[in-house]
Amino acid sequence: MSVTRQILLALVLGIVSGLALNTGANALPEGSVAWLDTNVLTPVGQIFLRLLQFVVVPMVFGALIMSLTNREGGADVGRRAGRLLGSYVVTSAVALTLGMLVAYWLSPGSGAESLVNQAPEGRNADSLSQWLVGLVPNNPFTALGGGGLLQVIFAAALIGLAMRALPEESAPLHRVIESGYTISLKVLSFVLKLAPLGVFALITSVIATQGLDLLERLGMYVIGLIIALALMALLYLVLLTISGARPIAFIKHFGQSLGFAFGTASSGATLPLALGNARSYGMDESLASFALPFGTALKRDGAAVLQGFNALFVAQLFGIDVTTSLVITVFTTGLLVSFSTAGVPGAGLVAMTTVLGAAGLPLEGVAVVAGVDRFTDGLRTALNVMGNCANAALLERFDSRARKQTSPE
Ligand code: ASP
Repeated sequence: MSVTRQILLALVLGIVSGLALNTGANALPEGSVAWLDTNVLTPVGQIFLRLLQFVVVPMVFGALIMSLTNREGGADVGRRAGRLLGSYVVTSAVALTLGMLVAYWLSPGSGAESLVNQAPEGRNADSLSQWLVGLVPNNPFTALGGGGLLQVIFAAALIGLAMRALPEESAPLHRVIESGYTISLKVLSFVLKLAPLGVFALITSVIATQGLDLLERLGMYVIGLIIALALMALLYLVLLTISGARPIAFIKHFGQSLGFAFGTASSGATLPLALGNARSYGMDESLASFALPFGTALKRDGAAVLQGFNALFVAQLFGIDVTTSLVITVFTTGLLVSFSTAGVPGAGLVAMTTVLGAAGLPLEGVAVVAGVDRFTDGLRTALNVMGNCANAALLERFDSRARKQTSPE
């Protein structure tokens, strides 16, 4: 059975066993589901996620250096980064607007006041300038050892460009990095053997401990969010079709990453898989090795949809008027926050406090939706991964058309 099928099967089995454990908890000795979750399911899921993170830095660093030092691909990095950033901003703005429009249309917060009962802790986000300063590593080793994906990209870009300028002197280091990259691909292939087990444990744990009761209470919220996320996914398929980027092949090859993103709720953990899927899809290696890590660090359509949708939901819940200035504040902060949302489970929920705070909306709204966050997180992570890979595929099409137009007949 292919890895994709195994992952999908693990998802289904995880949902079924989670439901069985949740509904059958009364028939089991008291506390046994909680025991199973704490001592078996959660550790298995966490170990699997940690193993994936283990290969992310060497893969991203190695792949980027390889592509920067490669004669054809390397020169394009600056131009590609600029184009990607442009398309990220436009598509994330559309995602955020879609989230707000669906919330406005469905009005899931009106009449749901009974859900308000507790207040979460607020959190102050870094200012934009602090965030930008933090992207620049002050030490190559700390950048690789825990500086975050953007610092890894920054360090690889600097070192790769210098290596490109000094091909002879950098040859020994190039061989070391190339060998490290090949080894990390092999490690990934070992780790992926555990993917079905990891995904099964993660999904079973969520459903066994949280059940579906909350989903019923927050039904309109969840349905609305699913509609908004699905519309954005559909838009990507339309864009891929218009650009001639083979949407069916896109789903066929990246479907594995999407299922995996849903199961793990982490775009960071999905990156190694997405790089492999890009290869089987036939995406230019030098583009994929730059664009996918770049997008994993920055591009979050699911988070953008969430922030727009959620802010309007909270306004409706507390009977607050949706004024033009509120919409503008949600739009601008939501967009910025979506770009700085980490690729880990629950990051979008934490980021909500920034958007609600900026728009003067009650932070209690976060507590209301926190219970269903893990369900919607999987779906928005799948959209985050889809948006990232689709933007790279669209850029590839755009580049190849531009090349055809400029090349002499
Ligand atoms: N879990 C999401 C991701 O990894 C982030 C989010 O919470 O929206 O992409």
